[in-house]
Amino acid sequence: MPDFFDSVLSLLGWKLPFKFVFSNEYWMADLGQHIFPVKKYRLLYERVIALGAEPGDFIQASPASEEDLLLVHTPKYVKKVMSCSLSSLELQALELPFSLDLVRFFLLMTGGTIQTVEEALKTGLAVHLGGGFHHAFPDHGEGFCLFNDIAVAIEKMKKTGRISRALVVDCDLHQGNGTAYIFARKDYVFTFSIHQMDIYPSEKPPSSLDVGLWSGDDDLDYLQALGPHFPGIYQEFRPDLVVYLAGADPYRGDMLSGLDVSAEALKKRDRIVIENARKLNIPVAIVLGGGYTAEVEETVSINLNTIRVAIRASRRSSYSPVTSLTQSE
Ligand SMILES: [Zn+2]
Repeated sequence: MPDFFDSVLSLLGWKLPFKFVFSNEYWMADLGQHIFPVKKYRLLYERVIALGAEPGDFIQASPASEEDLLLVHTPKYVKKVMSCSLSSLELQALELPFSLDLVRFFLLMTGGTIQTVEEALKTGLAVHLGGGFHHAFPDHGEGFCLFNDIAVAIEKMKKTGRISRALVVDCDLHQGNGTAYIFARKDYVFTFSIHQMDIYPSEKPPSSLDVGLWSGDDDLDYLQALGPHFPGIYQEFRPDLVVYLAGADPYRGDMLSGLDVSAEALKKRDRIVIENARKLNIPVAIVLGGGYTAEVEETVSINLNTIRVAIRASRRSSYSPVTSLTQSE
């Protein structure tokens, strides 16, 4: 159900202050009875329409090119994926039923995150109704992630001179192992990850800054662990772009979460990350990441909360695009 805020804005005929990237192919991927709920993409799209979004508020995701993938992934891995010749061990690590449709799904997701980042750089904020596949490494996929959309998008912006520094704020329940590994020796990307320690991935390559939580940690633990890093992390690293992975899975009702974190606390998390960036005129590209509640609607509500926070933050502070970058910094 739309909340009071949504209804008032709808009645006032207020335009949404930023664009959404999506594809209706996201929810057509057939994963059978898999825990990964592709249905959430359709439900979230419908909820965004109910917020008052019009056709012009959406950007259709286009598939990433092989050239884009090669900015992060090894030629050998890309070739294996494209020719459907991953080994059974590799397929096991991916934990998804492999098919050409699945490849198409991840190409669109990766292209969608590239478009979201481009849009955020232009207008200050954009939301991908998808994305956040942070467990993919250069030479293999794992944990439901075939390609690392976040890393590909950042590398593309860097290569084309549109950013000099990016900061990844990864608030998914699971540590952003692929992203941390990819950017480990690249000083133009700062990776921040706040996650539950005693779950997958068992091996956690160090991010620039890792904040670990443990099974049973509650709202206060979560917010006290997150809050003190903002806005300091933005002020010190001075990124031209923040990619915010707003995972819904730290939620206490999530089947994969051991944390005791409420939806309300996740909303406060969103405010800390998004509002602090906006106040400093840093563009924010939001991607969704994980969410595995028994009732998929709960995951969708948490994602929608993130969008509501982004709407309010965008309305409160204007954005002036940075026109020139000092590449030598
Ligand atoms: Zn996750």
